[in-house]
Amino acid sequence: MRCVYCNTENETGSSRCRHCGMPLPREELRDRKRLRRPFLWLFWLVVIFCAVMIFLLPRSLG
Ligand SMILES: [Zn+2]
Repeated sequence: MRCVYCNTENETGSSRCRHCGMPLPREELRDRKRLRRPFLWLFWLVVIFCAVMIFLLPRSLG
């Protein structure tokens, strides 16, 4: 497990970096599930943006 702050290789399972003491990210498998949610609201943001543009563009074009 590599520290994202100082790039020091740490033992797997350790919660903090042995070099700089910053908290290490948890196991990748756990983070993958967490990362799905931000994409969901980003998806809906794009859908809402497209829906608004469909209604607004014909009006703005004349
Ligand atoms: Zn570190």
